[in-house]
Amino acid sequence: MIIDSHCHLDRINLDRYENTLSLALDAARERGIEGFLCISISLENLQNVVDIAQANDNVWASVGVHPLDVDSGVAGVEQLIDFARQDKVVAIGETGLDYYYSQDSKALQQESFVHHLQAADKSQKPVVVHTRDAKEDTLNLIKTHGNLESAGVLHCFTEDWDMARRAIDMNYMISISGIVTFKNAEALRDVVRNVPLDHLLVETDSPYLAPIPYRGKPNQPKYVREVAEYVAELKGLRLEELAEITTNNFFRLFNQANSTRVMSKTL
Ligand SMILES: [Zn+2]
Ligand SMILES: [Zn+2]
Repeated sequence: MIIDSHCHLDRINLDRYENTLSLALDAARERGIEGFLCISISLENLQNVVDIAQANDNVWASVGVHPLDVDSGVAGVEQLIDFARQDKVVAIGETGLDYYYSQDSKALQQESFVHHLQAADKSQKPVVVHTRDAKEDTLNLIKTHGNLESAGVLHCFTEDWDMARRAIDMNYMISISGIVTFKNAEALRDVVRNVPLDHLLVETDSPYLAPIPYRGKPNQPKYVREVAEYVAELKGLRLEELAEITTNNFFRLFNQANSTRVMSKTL
């Protein structure tokens, strides 16, 4: 059993699935992917993401506003907590800092990130963090405002080992996307070799960033298998072993998912 720990199910391309999300999820299940964390990125799509989780078995939701979406409105702490009270919402995010794509909105991004960290602390949920070219600010805000027990994950990780190590020291997980399969990702592969197994997750970030051999095509949750296979090889493990370890990590971090987990008949 593999879990896609980060996907945007409201945005994936369903042309091949009769425009029906459940068929896309079935296609993933046929490849051993049996759990999905569906991530919201804006105040507009937030409730939609929660509804998707509530309508599908083993789909959970994370509520938040992406750092590159803060222009459309910074969510308030209480507002986030209210959304997070709904069934199957197991995390807060994605939130974080992205100075690579936007320097102009730095102050807004930080304000928004702090709100998410505070909401996560109060609702005892982990935080899904997006971070790019913002190492020190990301780590400092987590340290200052985060709850290191409910912790969180640095998703679609592409930064250096020093950042990963310092996040792991704060109880965070490191989630690896299809970028790890890209030809020019040798530095990231070194990071993956270093990350302790009990701090590792895998994800697609679909519909973005399809792994090789699907690079450039719309990504979908079923391709998390290619990511897991690649990471298993880097770690010197069989796919089944890596799948079991990352699934256990997922349910340890997003522990509120356990109460709505539906066990598959094939297990
Ligand atoms: Zn992201
Ligand atoms: Zn994302």
